[in-house]
Amino acid sequence: MTSADLLSAGKKRFNRHDLRRLSDAIEFAEIAHQGQFRKSGEPYVMHAYATAQTLLTLGMDIDTVVAGVLHDVPEDTAYTLGDVEKLFGLTVAKLVAGVTKLGKLKYRGLERYVENLRRMFVAMAEDVRVMIIKFADRLHNLSTLGSLPPDKQLRIARESLDIYAPLANRLGMGDIKGQLEDLAFPYVYPQEYAWVTSLLGTRYETLHSVIDVMTSELTSSLAKAKIKPLSIHGRRKHLYSLYEKLLRPEYDRDLSKIWDLVALRVVLKNVNDCYGALGIIHQLWRPVPHRFKDYIAQPKPNGYQSIHTTVFGPGGQPVEIQVRDEVMHQLAEFGVAAHWHYTESGKPVAAAKVEDKLAWVKELADWRQDVTSDEQFLEALKIDALQKRIFCLTPTGDVIDLPELATPIDFAYHVHSELGNHCVGAKINDALVSLDTALKSGDVVEIMTDKNRKVPNHDWLELAKTQTARGHIRKALREAGQEIGSDPTP
Ligand code: MN
Repeated sequence: MTSADLLSAGKKRFNRHDLRRLSDAIEFAEIAHQGQFRKSGEPYVMHAYATAQTLLTLGMDIDTVVAGVLHDVPEDTAYTLGDVEKLFGLTVAKLVAGVTKLGKLKYRGLERYVENLRRMFVAMAEDVRVMIIKFADRLHNLSTLGSLPPDKQLRIARESLDIYAPLANRLGMGDIKGQLEDLAFPYVYPQEYAWVTSLLGTRYETLHSVIDVMTSELTSSLAKAKIKPLSIHGRRKHLYSLYEKLLRPEYDRDLSKIWDLVALRVVLKNVNDCYGALGIIHQLWRPVPHRFKDYIAQPKPNGYQSIHTTVFGPGGQPVEIQVRDEVMHQLAEFGVAAHWHYTESGKPVAAAKVEDKLAWVKELADWRQDVTSDEQFLEALKIDALQKRIFCLTPTGDVIDLPELATPIDFAYHVHSELGNHCVGAKINDALVSLDTALKSGDVVEIMTDKNRKVPNHDWLELAKTQTARGHIRKALREAGQEIGSDPTP
């Protein structure tokens, strides 16, 4: 990555004024980092360019890209944050300050990392772009881990797997999450990594040649029907997520049970074109029975939209095809970063949907008032932020987003604090269950209430897994004048 590469990538995106700011930033970084080298022997400034380049690929705005170029200046050079502000303005300086504050604390397991996590959430709540720069920075650091000593490699890779990847996932940035995991995978689990790669052998190569044939057939059939796709490309499943899938009981470490190793992804201008393309796809290749899902008409509970179908491709090879429009694609791949994106026709990508993906960060910022001790904060974070999410439904079909292991108590309080306070029992999919039952994605949860019941049980503080539910329970107990016992919240 050279300054010329970065500039020419910038040319495709920015107007003259913005491009000028980018080239000024490059010139400044070049001077500031002069004489500095990475462990790999590369000039230090290459790292700054690689970070900025990733931010460009993510479709970020000029301030973020410039901040990417300058992100290590105050920490590692003779120039200060004040210099950055004078030359590049307050917004860039704030972003750089945010990244610098996230700091250089060495990761030695979650327990000793609480303060840094706290800082991350404060930074994210203020401006999520800080975290996006941090992801870009981390991606390049991971890709150059090879030149570091083994203990450092392991520490950085583990932090990426434990903290960065789950956060990227929570921000809807699926592709970044996949890249972070794949780069960290061989350092954290070398044997498992070797197992998955040997299992794969040349499967990817074989599948890609099938995908290539299908791409050209589909391109010409769409052209005959006057449908212009924005892109048709093969998407390869990320290695680490393949590994996690193989470990699930239903796959039983058997690669032949996994059908989406490579999928053909078709991105179109609008929903009409999606259905048009689907008709053409099913005429070209016979669909595999029971492998069709229309998540456009019926989005997944997390908001994901696409049509998925599996067809018998050339040579009878089953291939999954994913059909979606531009906005669906940007949201699925880039998550919150899509906030800074525009469609081909120059419209901003659905801002409301991006806001949804950020709602939990705001919630986290609110906790800061409620959560006092480090242990509490860590516990809350582990569950509410770093754990996988499940999506449960109310009897009327509203979706409630919860962490894995959440119980009906959490569900009730996430719907409404009063529903929680009046709760006397719960049904999952019409069957009566105890209040400590762990919910699963797709469960329809009905909370039974008694209006005479006003105060929650003290034990519910144990049953509730989320900070939101615990906060409401504590509040109701306090208002009823009950002792909260050992709980340190005043
Ligand atoms: Mn850096």
